[in-house]
Amino acid sequence: MLGVEHLTVTYGPQVALEDATVRFEAGQFSAIIGPNGAGKSTLLRTLVGLLPDHAGAVQFDPGHTAQGCISYVPQQQTLDWAFPVTVWDVAMMGRTGRLGWLRWPGRKDRELVQAALRETGVYDLRHRHIGALSGGQRQRVLLARMLARRGHLLLLDEPLTGVDAATQESLMALLRAEANRGRAVVMVTHDLEQARRWCDQLVLINRRIIAAGTPEQVYTPQNIEATFSSSHLGHTHAEA
Ligand code: ADP
Ligand code: MG
Repeated sequence: MLGVEHLTVTYGPQVALEDATVRFEAGQFSAIIGPNGAGKSTLLRTLVGLLPDHAGAVQFDPGHTAQGCISYVPQQQTLDWAFPVTVWDVAMMGRTGRLGWLRWPGRKDRELVQAALRETGVYDLRHRHIGALSGGQRQRVLLARMLARRGHLLLLDEPLTGVDAATQESLMALLRAEANRGRAVVMVTHDLEQARRWCDQLVLINRRIIAAGTPEQVYTPQNIEATFSSSHLGHTHAEA
């Protein structure tokens, strides 16, 4: 469905990604795994089109042309949770775009938002101010916004962070189901075990692509060592 070829991204003198080549297919649930600073978020942001300054190519197959069909959930800490809106409003942003340049929602939009809130288990909280939610509830609201968009490509940056174990399982099942419906799902995570259990493709990354393929192909002690050993970046990886 899409891929990057020989992608190199730099921030000033800092090389965040070097010569990365990887593909993501429709119907496939992929996990991008690596230590802090490995370039995981940079890879996702490049796929979304947020980083125009790169060398190499981002390629969408015909029929899946770029932004229109992408649903993107950034890392949680980049969002402003003090913004005075409700759970329903945030999920509706999946239909209408960013707050501020609101287009008037129609009945179809409301139906999709309602369905998404039910799927992620936060429909009963729909009138709640987003500032009054727990970390797990916030993550569910972001996922509801993503589902409401009904994109062909779902990109999620560490959606499991700050979420309890039971919620993690239900979120993984939900993303698995989205892939089974034919969407391409790409998730950044620190959790190798979970990725191994739920995903079709693991992409190990540490500034370069260390390995990409099925869990059976990729999950080897050598690859794990190459990905998480501190020698690459000069610092150790964060919590699993
Ligand atoms: P990850 O998501 O794997 O933790 P990132 O893609 O966020 O890694 O970052 C990769 C590298 O690029 C890191 O060294 C980080 O400090 C650097 N970096 C990321 N974003 C910026 C930015 N906006 N400006 C400068 N450096 C950045
Ligand atoms: Mg990141």
